[in-house]
Amino acid sequence: MTHSSTLTKRLSQLFTLVLFFGYAAVAQAQWDIMQYGGREYVSLDSVKKFYNFQTYKRSGNQIMLEGKNLVFKLRIGDQESTLNGVKFVFTYPVIESGARTAISRIDLTKLIDPVMRPSYIANAGNFHTVVIDAGHGGRDAGAVNAYNTEKAYNLRVAQEVQKLLTAKGFRVILTRSSDVYLTLQQRVDLANSLKESAIFISIHFNSGGRSARGIETFTLSPQGVAHYGSGVKPSDHNARNGNINDSANVALATAVHSQVLRNIGANNTFDRGIKRARFSVLTGVRHPAILLEGGFMSHPYEARLMENPKYITAVARGVANAVVLYKSAVSYRKPATRRP
Ligand SMILES: [Zn+2]
Repeated sequence: MTHSSTLTKRLSQLFTLVLFFGYAAVAQAQWDIMQYGGREYVSLDSVKKFYNFQTYKRSGNQIMLEGKNLVFKLRIGDQESTLNGVKFVFTYPVIESGARTAISRIDLTKLIDPVMRPSYIANAGNFHTVVIDAGHGGRDAGAVNAYNTEKAYNLRVAQEVQKLLTAKGFRVILTRSSDVYLTLQQRVDLANSLKESAIFISIHFNSGGRSARGIETFTLSPQGVAHYGSGVKPSDHNARNGNINDSANVALATAVHSQVLRNIGANNTFDRGIKRARFSVLTGVRHPAILLEGGFMSHPYEARLMENPKYITAVARGVANAVVLYKSAVSYRKPATRRP
């Protein structure tokens, strides 16, 4: 809930500079694609040229690409990277092969490019309807702690988001607006029954070991990419409904994740990153979709935060601001250039 931290500034930059003006930085470049461990990788040198980063610095395993208003940090052997301070969890670690360092082509095309160039995502800005899905409900309480139930917090956030987005002129549909039980399939069916374009945001709070804390945002794993924390299974190669929106999904996740962190404030949060998963609502919904985990009910400090209405409001504001930013970012059209 503080608004003047370095994190806040860096996150603002990601949105005012990457999502709105990132396209200006794109230069023509030859993609340097290589094979490694049976997969395609793209050298960081060609990533640097394509997105017009000015410098490539390496210190040990740390790599930093710097552009005019962009800082992209990676680490050889690691799946975590940050782009202007927003954490992304790659599908595959950054590699070093001979004189070259590289990232997997699927991480470049399905994660980095949609964030760097959201305006290239076809027709994504053409929506007016937002489906907010308060997770759990009725006999399914979700996570439970000494203070409250997850289903109650999810609904509080969903109803605040509805107010904020309705005031901004969006049509907002809640999958549930009271304490009722819905199956995951009913939530998917409701969203897919809409005739108009829409986006889908599922709200949850987390639970884990006592030390686990922070915010994480999930988007559907692209075809061939594992569910978070699992190895690749044969069925991971099947396309799901949500895979038609791979690029929009990650742009929406970036907007929601960074805006929620920003509104909660750096002192009150921990960034667990943007991750890929095959949760039912993400696989089934035909609209761009994400699932937000707004903190850990099982963490002593975060549990107390959730009991504070200001925290719920901060999460809701983050989601609402993100929808507005996402819509502008994906609505801006520029002529096509070569894609990776
Ligand atoms: Zn949940």
